[in-house]
Amino acid sequence: MLPRITIDDAKCKVPLDCGKCLRVCPTQVLNLYCNAPPQKFREIDPSHYRVRGVHLLACSLCMECVKVCPEGAIQVAFGEGG
Ligand code: SF4
Ligand code: SF4
Repeated sequence: MLPRITIDDAKCKVPLDCGKCLRVCPTQVLNLYCNAPPQKFREIDPSHYRVRGVHLLACSLCMECVKVCPEGAIQVAFGEGG
């Protein structure tokens, strides 16, 4: 069964500046996702970036991401979905 990783985007407002969960995860389960369309000649607004669990099979449920998040934005649980 895959773990269920939930990120509260209302709490994780600046993942580009923070990124602590991305760095602490020993198996690179988490990734940055951009919900803006490709934009040429200008920078993408940082608010379009989100943290998401991508490689769920690699998650060992170590909870390091939950512990390191300064905003309490991450929940990791064992269950269906993702
Ligand atoms: S629980 Fe551990 S392995 Fe799973 S996403 Fe968080 S830091 Fe990575
Ligand atoms: S540690 Fe928390 S606040 Fe920082 S990028 Fe990850 S989810 Fe967002």
